Amino acid sequence: MAGVVTRFAPSPTGPLHLGHAYSALLGHDMARAAGGRFLLRFEDTDLQRSKPEWKAAIVEDLQWLGLRWDAPPHQQSLQIAAYSARLQPLIDAGLLYPCSCTRGDIRAALAAPQEGVAHQVYPGTCRHRPMADRRPGDALRLNLTKALAALAHENLEFFETGPAHDGQHRLDPAKAQSQIGDIVLYRKDEEIVAYFLASAFDDADQGISHVVRGEDLFDFTPIQVILQHLLRLPTPIYHHHALIRDDQGKRLAKRDDARAIAKYRAEGVTPAEIRRMVGL
Ligand code: GLU
Repeated sequence: MAGVVTRFAPSPTGPLHLGHAYSALLGHDMARAAGGRFLLRFEDTDLQRSKPEWKAAIVEDLQWLGLRWDAPPHQQSLQIAAYSARLQPLIDAGLLYPCSCTRGDIRAALAAPQEGVAHQVYPGTCRHRPMADRRPGDALRLNLTKALAALAHENLEFFETGPAHDGQHRLDPAKAQSQIGDIVLYRKDEEIVAYFLASAFDDADQGISHVVRGEDLFDFTPIQVILQHLLRLPTPIYHHHALIRDDQGKRLAKRDDARAIAKYRAEGVTPAEIRRMVGL
């Protein structure tokens, strides 16, 4: 398959563990098998938790695994002003509103979703507020009802090649309303841009043909498809893979140092053994 471009997009907030290695190797192998390109992106918009030393450690682990990427790593933190400027068409279309709900709520809503942490559907407290009422410190939220109405005549769908959900998926607007709601896209005073938004822009800018990532993000793909349509960005093919779990069936989180690649390396495990451990 010509034109295959995949990416590995870690948040540099901890060490690379087996689950990440699996994701990176899978995306890499898929691109190489097709004679395509493999890219690395640091999703480091959370400026408090992202650390340069984690980026360096991730690069070292990926290189040790034998992975090479076809362009310098993309760093989202350098693009935050540019991402927010690209929201203007949505503001002009009246699809965003300012929101002054608490920072804690918003920070939680902006982070990449995690398994076991339920996505909070916003109750709509600030939905009535016009953009003219925007105050410093307000976040910008998407009015999902209006957004879906604006997209009423578009085919909101995506194609999935991951084993658990293989096939075409058509979005159900009612389900989007009840499960996604009015998401925060941007918060000016802290210069934070939502993971969903930055990732949708980057997948388009980097020409990603296949998004290879963990199963935990499958349920959030509709948000990205809605944003892609609103922002006139292409929808890539998605490939959500199974999560690597520990002996108790718990997902390996980044803070689970027990499965960190660096630890295996120190113990003398080889990259080929890591591949076998994740089932490749
Ligand atoms: N940055 C996300 C994470 O580390 C990955 C998002 C994606 O691959 O789309 O969980």
